[in-house]
Amino acid sequence: MRYSGLIEKYRDRLPVTASTPVISLGEGNTPLIELRNLPAILGTDVQMFVKFEGLNPTGSFKDRGMTMAVTKAVEAGSKAIICASTGNTSAAAAAYAARAGIGCFVLIPEGKIALGKLAQAMMHGSTVIQIQGNFDDGMRLVQELSSDMPVALVNSVNPYRLQGQKTISFEIIEALGDAPDYHVLPVGNAGNISGHWMGYSESVCQQTEACGLCHGACPYHPAKPIATKRPIMIGNQAAGAAPFLRGEMVKNPETIATAIRIGHPMSWNLAWAAVRESGGWFNECTDQEILAAQALLARHEGVFCEPSSATGFAGLIKDIQAGRIKAGSRIVITLTGHGLKDPDTAIAQSSKPHLVAAERGAIGDLISKHL
Ligand SMILES: *Cc1c(COP(=O)(O)O)cnc(C)c1O
Repeated sequence: MRYSGLIEKYRDRLPVTASTPVISLGEGNTPLIELRNLPAILGTDVQMFVKFEGLNPTGSFKDRGMTMAVTKAVEAGSKAIICASTGNTSAAAAAYAARAGIGCFVLIPEGKIALGKLAQAMMHGSTVIQIQGNFDDGMRLVQELSSDMPVALVNSVNPYRLQGQKTISFEIIEALGDAPDYHVLPVGNAGNISGHWMGYSESVCQQTEACGLCHGACPYHPAKPIATKRPIMIGNQAAGAAPFLRGEMVKNPETIATAIRIGHPMSWNLAWAAVRESGGWFNECTDQEILAAQALLARHEGVFCEPSSATGFAGLIKDIQAGRIKAGSRIVITLTGHGLKDPDTAIAQSSKPHLVAAERGAIGDLISKHL
């Protein structure tokens, strides 16, 4: 059967009815790619899989939450949506609003937005409002605006966003046959780690996590693909925007990983719950470590994610080197967005193309040198 998006696939586990007008672009169903080369390069025997969310319709995991948020906004009769964004939320909101035929207003921070994301918001016809402030300022403003204007708020404080985002965990459990031992991801506004945890939690038997019947015979989950456990959750932040490491909000967050340049995470309590209940922890990574992790994935695995997305892998490298990961473990790393979102950062850290004459000799010499 043709795959037609995560609401159709998981409608029995999402707050929709038969008459809900589903707004979908075929999001979800992203590949879970096993890393073949990097474990040996890092000198580890752990098994690592990346869930490449950059292959969603607008190039980030935000589509999972946005299909639900826009579907429910349309169902409630909204004629317009609004969000604050570091870029990917606005790209997704703009695309799903275009699909639904409703208006879209996006507030983005001045300057620090990746070019690909800005192009998407503009191209899909949303009203792009660049504010002289950061994401946290934008978040405060859209909460005020949506409280007394006829615009539906689609940031992850909208509960339907997390409902859509939880489906990533269902897909991982289906692909692996169970939950992994660890789940590693970047954390900004902290909606995604909360959505992952919700998905994993709904997949285990709530009566007793280790009931041992959950692959078929469990009386509480008769038909669903059920996991026998939940993973240890590891949230990773950029050092300049790491409120979970500081234990308090950060005033002027700064990092090259613009998608997680957030000082006041909205899902503060849910993210702490995910990490604490799972026995996990938070890491912080420098911009340098983040860019190095991005380059490792691109050069050794052929997977090109944006800098923010590489923050999970950057933190995992540190955890492996510090001996914090159990030998032989199975780990899933969420790569939240596609590398093409931020071409400037990619080009700035790569070597320039070789400029040579358009002749066989010169090019042949160059090839010989690099063989
Ligand atoms: C939104 C986003 C994040 C952060 O997700 P939160 O839910 O805000 O924690 C990380 N990476 C990318 C690419 C994003 O777009």
